[in-house]
Amino acid sequence: MSGDTQHGGLRTPIVAVLGHVDHGKTSLLDKIRGSTVIEGEAGAITQHIGATAVPLDVVGEVAGSLVDPTEFDLPGLLFIDTPGHHSFTTLRSRGGALADIAILVVDVNDGFQPQTEEAIKILADSQTPFVVAANKVDTIPGWQIHEDAPIQQSLEAQSDRVEQQFNEKLYEIIGELSDAGFTSDFYWRVQDFRSNVGVVPVSAMTGEGIPDLLAVLMGLAQRYMKEDMAIDVTGPGAGTVLEVKEEQGFGTTLDVILYDGTIRADDTIVVGGVNGPIVTDVRALLKPRPLAEIRTESRFEKVDEIAAASGVKIAAPDLDDAIAGAPVRAVRGRDLDDVIADVQEELAEVAVDTGEEGVVVKADTLGSLEAMANAMEEAEIPIMRAEVGDIAPRDVAMATTVDEEEYRAILGFNVDTLGDAAERAEQDDVRVFRSDVIYQLVEEYEAFVEDIERRQR
Ligand code: GDP
Repeated sequence: MSGDTQHGGLRTPIVAVLGHVDHGKTSLLDKIRGSTVIEGEAGAITQHIGATAVPLDVVGEVAGSLVDPTEFDLPGLLFIDTPGHHSFTTLRSRGGALADIAILVVDVNDGFQPQTEEAIKILADSQTPFVVAANKVDTIPGWQIHEDAPIQQSLEAQSDRVEQQFNEKLYEIIGELSDAGFTSDFYWRVQDFRSNVGVVPVSAMTGEGIPDLLAVLMGLAQRYMKEDMAIDVTGPGAGTVLEVKEEQGFGTTLDVILYDGTIRADDTIVVGGVNGPIVTDVRALLKPRPLAEIRTESRFEKVDEIAAASGVKIAAPDLDDAIAGAPVRAVRGRDLDDVIADVQEELAEVAVDTGEEGVVVKADTLGSLEAMANAMEEAEIPIMRAEVGDIAPRDVAMATTVDEEEYRAILGFNVDTLGDAAERAEQDDVRVFRSDVIYQLVEEYEAFVEDIERRQR
């Protein structure tokens, strides 16, 4: 039983880190983990599957005077660990975002970039409260490093010239947020984080501003955690699949972020699969073993049950068709048909089958599929069919049924081609676009259409 989630009345808030490639998402998470490992002798962080839990007392130690742990009835923060993977930022739970709050990382030198824009749109659509981490402040010319200091303290020690540059860079980001429809300010001037976005200057390298970032996250979480986030350790678990993975000795397993209730080792679960809901029985619930304890047997430790919010690995039969981003539900005490219907409904919410002339869209997760569908709608590209999964020969067959040349196309986000799909596409004159950046797919497709139009003139 993960005792770290049992504190006060609310479950651990789930935090996602978003932002453009190379702006410092991974470094920031590493820094948060690093500082908390050093500071957290008492509470120590716990490594989950796909996530890191930082308990409240450790947040308090890192944030120093900025966070008074007695003011919070939150157990801490659970950071989703897979920031490099853009699609994870679109993970959902029951129609909303899986993450309760988010950090949008923006490189102070680079400003807003396409993936920043994409991320901000996702945050706005899902109404996820977020804070902007204006990262890499240490690279401002002349910056005097003050490791792990609160940003105010570090800032006071900089020269006027440096401070002026700092202000200019921060105001640039504030301007870009305004263009994106958000009012924002230096976080210490923001009173209401619901209508204002706080911009927190940080360095993932030196740790400057990390205390502030944690303090703002705690404040955001405390303010906006909803009633349905009250700890309910007796209810049947609900979660979202992060990854479907082959694991030696366990077969196909699911890495799951559990956001509600508990999952037990003897539960029957329903999981979203390529061909609809999968009903199966948990074979084992697994947590990562602490590094010191790993011997030869397994990297994982079996547990009897696990409570939200947690990252857990589930081993069970028949998981081959499970999809990343799909819902997982424990049936316990509920009518199986109702649970199946719930999972079905969530799956149907994002799959598109218009039967009209348009392109075929494939994506790796439900969340990324939804983001793709939104981007296509915005670019006014009609979709015939959109679904989760790799590009298969039957997708090529589907694309050949359209009359218009411009719709003989498959757009794949973060997916592979299966079997002879690529050769078939080539033979049948179906264009296949693949990328792990949504705007690139849209741009490449638009260039393809322009090309056709030019030829036809
Ligand atoms: P991600 O793609 O957003 O996960 O970005 P990374 O965390 O991989 O960082 C990209 C590069 O920027 C790496 O070379 C990092 O070392 C560097 N970097 C990240 N944060 C900082 C920072 O605060 N200061 C400096 N100087 N470099 C940073």
